[in-house]
Amino acid sequence: MRPMIQTEPTQLTYRWIMHFEEGNKDLKQLLGGKGANLAEMTRAGLAVPPGFTITTEACRAYYQGHQLPEGLLDEMKQSMTELEQKKDQRFGDPTAPLLISVRSGSVNSMPGMMDTILNLGLNDETVKGLAELSGNERFALDCYRRFIQMFSNVVFGVEGVYFEKILRTMKQSRKVETDQQLTAQDLAELIVSYKNVVKTNAGKPFPQDVQEQLLLAVEAVFRSWNNHRAIIYRRLHAIPDEQGTAVNIQSMVFGNLGDDCGTGVLFTRNPSTGERKLFGEYLTNAQGEDVVAGVRTPKAISEMEVEMPEIYKLLSETAAQLEAHYRDVQDIEFTIEKNRLYMLQTRNAKRTAQAAVKTAVDFVNEDMITKAEAIERLDTAHLNQLLHPSIDPSITLNVLATGLPASPGAASGQIVFDADTAESWSKKQGKVILVRSETTPEDIHGVIVAQGILTSHGGMTSHAAVVARGMGKPCVCGCEAAEVDDELKQLSINGRTYQEGDWISIDGATGRVIDGKVELTDVNLSDELLTVLSWADEIRSMKIYTNADHPEDARKAREFGAEGIGLCRTEHMFFGHDRLPVVQAMILAENLRDRLEALDRLLPMQQSDFEGLFKAMDGYPVTVRLLDPPLHEFLPNLDELNEQMADFLKNGREQSNDANKLRTLIKKVRSLHEVNPMLGQRGCRLGILYPEIYDMQIRALFQAAVISIHKGVEVIPHIMIPLVGHYTELKFFHERITSMALEIFTAAGVECDYEIGTMIEVPRAALTAEKLVPYADFFSYGTNDLTQMTFGYSRDDAEGKFLTYYVDQKVLPNNPFQVLDRDGVGQLVDLATQKGKKLKPTLQAGVCGEHGGDPESIMYCQEIGLDYVSCSPYRVPLARIAAAQAKLAADRRHSNCNLS
Ligand code: ADP
Ligand code: MG
Ligand code: MG
Repeated sequence: MRPMIQTEPTQLTYRWIMHFEEGNKDLKQLLGGKGANLAEMTRAGLAVPPGFTITTEACRAYYQGHQLPEGLLDEMKQSMTELEQKKDQRFGDPTAPLLISVRSGSVNSMPGMMDTILNLGLNDETVKGLAELSGNERFALDCYRRFIQMFSNVVFGVEGVYFEKILRTMKQSRKVETDQQLTAQDLAELIVSYKNVVKTNAGKPFPQDVQEQLLLAVEAVFRSWNNHRAIIYRRLHAIPDEQGTAVNIQSMVFGNLGDDCGTGVLFTRNPSTGERKLFGEYLTNAQGEDVVAGVRTPKAISEMEVEMPEIYKLLSETAAQLEAHYRDVQDIEFTIEKNRLYMLQTRNAKRTAQAAVKTAVDFVNEDMITKAEAIERLDTAHLNQLLHPSIDPSITLNVLATGLPASPGAASGQIVFDADTAESWSKKQGKVILVRSETTPEDIHGVIVAQGILTSHGGMTSHAAVVARGMGKPCVCGCEAAEVDDELKQLSINGRTYQEGDWISIDGATGRVIDGKVELTDVNLSDELLTVLSWADEIRSMKIYTNADHPEDARKAREFGAEGIGLCRTEHMFFGHDRLPVVQAMILAENLRDRLEALDRLLPMQQSDFEGLFKAMDGYPVTVRLLDPPLHEFLPNLDELNEQMADFLKNGREQSNDANKLRTLIKKVRSLHEVNPMLGQRGCRLGILYPEIYDMQIRALFQAAVISIHKGVEVIPHIMIPLVGHYTELKFFHERITSMALEIFTAAGVECDYEIGTMIEVPRAALTAEKLVPYADFFSYGTNDLTQMTFGYSRDDAEGKFLTYYVDQKVLPNNPFQVLDRDGVGQLVDLATQKGKKLKPTLQAGVCGEHGGDPESIMYCQEIGLDYVSCSPYRVPLARIAAAQAKLAADRRHSNCNLS
């Protein structure tokens, strides 16, 4: 230990510890969210029990050195001494014992994922002191038995069930219902049994030395950073593994000292709906985890107004103060000790997407934040849930029971009773609903894969509810009418019994539990979301197009705010049951005349498709990509055909007319067979070999344009040539399109502006972009194929085989088919855009792969100056917000550059 000046004991320079008075909310990285906010509240003068934070840096040092870092022990000792002085109690003192909580707290809040220990400092001696001091022996023993259980669970890994079983037996033998009814004598007996449980299961006695308790607890909290559920949670929320957790040491206040005591959780606004009204739950005469763990069913915070009016008033004032200070909805934990209110935690509240949107709009209207801040706060991945279906209100439902509406959204699925089954079933069969009496953090892998969660116990702030809201999963909690037998795998509800695999539906917005599978309805954008989207449109600079192949999709996309079609895959129009036979006839044609005849039959169909798209997009561009896939995709599969032929042989009908037809078909399919179709005869290569196919499509497009113009529709056709690798390919079609347009427009006596462009999806095209420019009005990056060809991965093989492993093992940071690979694929996009725009500043460039709907990729598109992104209709609203966020980020970077 460093020498210290006697008169000024705080002279020791702290390296690993910061006291609550010293920190603030901006030190989250160092103090974790909980520590930073405890410091902030302390400085704001709120009643926070004194304490200090062991930093995340200490945790990282612990992981590096595999032991508590040097100097930490001294700092802890010193800090404990200061705490003793503040509280006028001594740690381990049998007459006036200081008791503390040891609380984990990481940078990003991970509710319930790591561990917290309350009442540390109790042993056989100090428990007597606590009894003396409080004048309440029962209370002291209650704290002690809780401490033994929590400590042994967190530090030694002794499972809670051992203790709970003893507790249950005790209650039965005393013929009482609740823990509160047990006497001091009962609790003393319980403690003896608890200690035996520890000895048996941990292989060592429960530690009586309080210093030892403290060290073991701190280490255990560090270790809890790497427990299974914390690791899964981090992966899910993309929290870096190396961040580490802080540990908060805080002097205890007691909510279990009697009926003028209590503990609770409070949200400054309703986290489900966003309504501006206090929302929360509390329990009188209870400690810490009781509310979140769902041990007893808590009371609504509104009851406190009657039961403890003074406290309620102070609590609402404090809530308002914290919300104004943080300028965001707060999730507050508090404890009342003998009519005194203490604040134990505050953080920005997790909320449903609906509540996130509503509060964002309200905060702007209340002048608390700007529109830009409102947009920046939204999490597009989370908002995705608003674009999910709900239950059609016109359907008559067989509602079995109603629980708490813990997280909105509707879901149907097959019942599973444990997380592991949820995981394996969802892989194989698809949709499951996880049904539990109560979820614990260990269930998280099941919660992730389930469509929704149903629990029979636990309140609105139970783990299941909090986690489900964070993930945007439908959840119904505390449905007491549902009897769940986790072991027998049975759900009894309203006189009916369900087994694993039976279908059930839940509606997390109303709490309804519904028999069987339920039809879900289309999405409607709320007024608040429309407001937010209009703000996003004011901010963003990139256009948002949609990928739509059919007029219905196009209409939906317009409703969602798409400003045009960025990609219409014409082949999707060929798969309809009335179309496919004609397409096949076209492919099987022996000569040009037969092929032209088939194409003549296809032309009016294709033309009417285009008319539909023009109408839906009236006044906005429609980008049509000419036929892309290899022809064999339109023909039956060879194995099937061979089987049919085998049947003919078996029946001796191999010379029949049908058999001869089949033989021709097989020959054709064989001749079209390719070793690697992805790199074979497809896209413009097909178009060059069979120009009559593309001619038909081009003609259909311009004729549709003419007819639409006559009908008063404003048409803006964009024609796009796929898979160009060499400029001559594009040049070939550029000439054909121009002359055909001229011919059709002249004949019709009307005309419109149109554009010709190319998809850039072959690396060579990107590298030689300057050669393409003379023939292109736009470049549309087909980043799906471009990613395949740049990485040399075939997507189907990669995602089915090695890619998941790659991402798990961090060989790749993420799936490049979901998030655009900036360094490789992105570089090609950037390069081609720069080359293109240099020669032709009016050139429009955008992304039409799946990346067009991915926020991170959209960010990159903004950075490299693309003009638009195109994504599926249901992602259009998210893309509008993501594009606004990207613009704000770009502006900020820009102004930072100018400053420095
Ligand atoms: P979690 O991250 O799981 O919420 P916390 O560290 O917040 O864990 O602790 C859980 C609960 O324990 C708190 O909400 C509070 O009710 C109780 N608690 C923690 N520290 C103290 C303390 N010093 N005094 C009284 N209760 C405490
Ligand atoms: Mg905890
Ligand atoms: Mg907490």
